[in-house]
Amino acid sequence: MDMTAFQAMMRAHYGERDERRGRDATVAWLAEELGELARAIRKGSRADQLDELGDVLAWLASLANQLGLDLSDAATRYAAGCPKCGASPCRC
Ligand SMILES: [Zn+2]
Repeated sequence: MDMTAFQAMMRAHYGERDERRGRDATVAWLAEELGELARAIRKGSRADQLDELGDVLAWLASLANQLGLDLSDAATRYAAGCPKCGASPCRC
């Protein structure tokens, strides 16, 4: 699934709830999910890690929706290589 489709799906699933919750609470949930991903990497199974990666992506998409920004546009920052040195692989 491409990022634009994923983000649109997250908007359909959670868009109204996201608007009620607001950006600050969404950032807090994203941070919590990052913590859960970190824990799954240290102690979890591959399935746990995949679930937590999905949750982080979901919260990141929710935040992007609330900001009115497109994750695929954000990804283009890296399309031509490292944003700092312009190389791929990075030479920084
Ligand atoms: Zn670089």
